[in-house]
Amino acid sequence: MNPLELAPLFRFVLVRTSHPGNIGGAARAIRTMGFERLDLVAPQRFPDREADALAANAVQVLAGAGVHGTLVEGLAGTSFALGLSARRRGVTLPELSPREAAAQALAAAVRGEQVALVFGNERTGLENEELATCHAMVRIPSVDDFSSLNLAQAVQVMAYELRLAMLGDAAPAPPPEHDEPPADAAQMERFYAHLAQMLDDIDFHKGREPTTIMLRLRKLFQRAQPDQRELRVLHGILADAQRMAQLAGEKK
Ligand code: SAH
Repeated sequence: MNPLELAPLFRFVLVRTSHPGNIGGAARAIRTMGFERLDLVAPQRFPDREADALAANAVQVLAGAGVHGTLVEGLAGTSFALGLSARRRGVTLPELSPREAAAQALAAAVRGEQVALVFGNERTGLENEELATCHAMVRIPSVDDFSSLNLAQAVQVMAYELRLAMLGDAAPAPPPEHDEPPADAAQMERFYAHLAQMLDDIDFHKGREPTTIMLRLRKLFQRAQPDQRELRVLHGILADAQRMAQLAGEKK
């Protein structure tokens, strides 16, 4: 399954937000990263023109935002919640970096769980009781003497890390770089047959059963994924080795 399809399982929960502009900014931040669900717990002013203005075109996210009286209501349906906090607050929660948090959140979503990213009030942050409803705390590693990001920017950082995690899992392994067409299976088989013959000719096996070494060599060349030109060079080397072995045999 494509991890990007898990986006609806994630929600961004803003608790007791004072400035509606930050709600709009957060809506825009999550929308740019492919998320759509915003939940507001006891916002001071919402809906509000400032929120609309800063949401830019992410008005859908605002229009769909849930508004709740308490954090527990905002978390309904979620089974994994991460509380974002600039400060360590004597709460005995595991502390994660945004990257670690994104990996764990994605793992939960892959298991089918709904995940909440919880953000506090601009001035006071998340209360201890609010953090206590979370499974772990996430701290963006800002400097000690100026640790608070703007709320919407903290949302952006977390949404970005989540998107990176989702893209990382979704992205197919990059194809090997070839300026020549890669060798196909039949060409590889011909090469392995030639390699086996050459190893015989130079008496590499010395009476040992060749199966294991041939499997090892196959693994090595499969990993290298040679292209057709590279295979031609290898065939050339094998042919020369065979020629030398034949010359040596004739001299005996
Ligand atoms: N003085 C408050 C700052 C609030 S900033 C505090 O200590 O938490 C508003 C919200 O943005 C915070 O509640 C938190 O959810 C998020 N935030 C800001 N800076 C952050 C950081 N460095 N790490 C994690 N979250 C941060």
